[in-house]
Amino acid sequence: MTRTYVVSGAASGIGAATVTHLRDGGHRVLTVDRTSTGLDGGSIDVVADLATPVGRAEAVAGVQALTDVVHGVVPAAGVGGFTGTDPALVVSVNYFGAIALVRGLQPQLAAAGGAAVVFLASNSITGMPGWNAEVATLCLRDDEDAARSTAATTEAVMVYPSSKAALAWWARREGVKPEWIGAGVRLNSVAPGKVTTAMTAEMAADPVFGPLGDSYPTAIGRDGRPEEIAAPIAFLLSPAASLVVGACLFIDGGTDAILHPISPEGWEVGPVEP
Ligand code: NAP
Repeated sequence: MTRTYVVSGAASGIGAATVTHLRDGGHRVLTVDRTSTGLDGGSIDVVADLATPVGRAEAVAGVQALTDVVHGVVPAAGVGGFTGTDPALVVSVNYFGAIALVRGLQPQLAAAGGAAVVFLASNSITGMPGWNAEVATLCLRDDEDAARSTAATTEAVMVYPSSKAALAWWARREGVKPEWIGAGVRLNSVAPGKVTTAMTAEMAADPVFGPLGDSYPTAIGRDGRPEEIAAPIAFLLSPAASLVVGACLFIDGGTDAILHPISPEGWEVGPVEP
């Protein structure tokens, strides 16, 4: 069956790979980005800036003008938290931009009679110590002004995981409610590790974080490729994942397993070595 999906951040990286994967599967994909041209040279369907309430409303209206039914949304648009990045922008794009797109398209998702959302979290949630929990709390309270002003008191690198944890938690908290799973819409997230995209190229060029990227641990000994995130996203979107609700799937070549071999932590399970 041909389904209609919506992917934001579709002009680059993981979003673009997700578009390609879904289209290769025969599906219709409506693309959203602030950039008007995709990686394949094709046009983006809905050009909008998800950093602002006006841009988010334009994105939702733009999609609604093209379809009455949406079988899945992948809000992949995001910005990294690097040296010189505005921390408030990280919150606005990564969290509020994603949530607004998904919330705005709830009627079209519910109309599908079985749909799914896959958020882009990040393994920085468990991999990076000391990130700003208050920002995540304020995101989950839906207080963008307070989240932005609290974010502005710290470094963007400490806010990026906050925005991503809040997405994963929002999917869990809201995903079990009547308006989502009760309407046949499964909310899940993926937590990629370091994946080769424009975002990680920016990280590599960062004077502070660039050198750290070389010591990033993986069990497979390499960075991920965008298509290695797109395929699991497509699975979570598909009816094959019908029992998966509120999950956060780490897709990181083993980084989270290296850093947290026994998880959740804090349980009396030792000794565990043979
Ligand atoms: P990317 O290659 O930089 O792609 C991000 C896309 O989002 C770009 O097309 C970008 O447009 C667009 N975008 C940024 N701000 C926007 C805005 N305000 N409104 C609309 N579109 C906007 O990044 P990526 O690595 O594929 O990342 C995709 C998602 O995965 C992000 O949410 C990221 O946080 C997450 N993620 C990535 C990694 C990784 O290692 N790459 C790991 C974990 C999670 P411009 O090019 O114009 O900025």
